[in-house]
Amino acid sequence: MALNRIIGEREGQLHGTLFVIFGQMHGNEPAGTIAAELLFAAIDKEYETNPKFIFRGKIVAMRGNTRAAAIKARYIDRDLNRFWSPENVAHAESNIETELYSEDLEMREIVAEMRRYIADYKPTDVVVLDLHTTTAHGGIFSIPAQNETSRTLALGMYAPVIHGFIKNLGGTSLHYFKTENFGIKTTAVCFESGQHDSPESPKLALSAIINCFRALGGFADSDVEIRHDILLQERAQDLPREARLVYTHSIAPEDEFRMRTDHIFQNFDLIEKGEIIAYDKNGAVLAPMSGLILMPLYQKLGSDGFFIIQEIETKLHFKEWKAIEKSLFV
Ligand SMILES: [Zn+2]
Repeated sequence: MALNRIIGEREGQLHGTLFVIFGQMHGNEPAGTIAAELLFAAIDKEYETNPKFIFRGKIVAMRGNTRAAAIKARYIDRDLNRFWSPENVAHAESNIETELYSEDLEMREIVAEMRRYIADYKPTDVVVLDLHTTTAHGGIFSIPAQNETSRTLALGMYAPVIHGFIKNLGGTSLHYFKTENFGIKTTAVCFESGQHDSPESPKLALSAIINCFRALGGFADSDVEIRHDILLQERAQDLPREARLVYTHSIAPEDEFRMRTDHIFQNFDLIEKGEIIAYDKNGAVLAPMSGLILMPLYQKLGSDGFFIIQEIETKLHFKEWKAIEKSLFV
């Protein structure tokens, strides 16, 4: 059983970017899918109330893992968002179904849909916004791919931009949705909109969608007057504008890793070097450095216990940014 791949699509009067929104790349994260549904309703309402409304480009929203979404699971056989590689896609496309994982089928179908939309619409370029949520509360942030276009879109969403994840994790959508795999300029950016089941998460994801589409020139500044579009600016006020990943606490099932329960950490909570963060079979797990905690693991499935990030001074000017880019994107 699987849910529908296509959540919806709308084409603007002006030709431009193909903007692909992914919800539920992890099946247990419905916020992105709900946000896409809210977006299409908002666009339709805008047409009704604002006769001058036009936009540039085509918006398509897809579910990532349709089979996992049907049973509200993160994945069926393999974590789809750690599985994206040209080799895995080629394997999925050339083998018979009985030899494939459930996520091979998902990848094969997604890539076929992407190619179909690119061939039909012939966009100027492709932007992929992959929407996720976390098990912990309070985390709204974007993860850019390793290029300036992606960073610019990430900054345009008005939430903390976290660098360094892409080199720590493998097989995420950011690793696959890029120019060389689609034969057209393709930029991906990932957005985390809060806790999995929080009623706030779809609203923040919608805000990210609108801000991102505006940043790439799809919506005009004056259109789509939804209150949600300022939600992120308000929410991100006290958070770092840009930060980098400095520590990943990787875990295996035999570690018996569990977060401390007498103090529940939220995303972006300040932690001090030497502070007890969790416990495992060897005893207390201490923070190896000071910083801000990100994505502490409060669910059973997962291979990362927690992350530590540190704020970096934002260099908005392109030339200044170039100077520090090398140290971030290696
Ligand atoms: Zn996710």
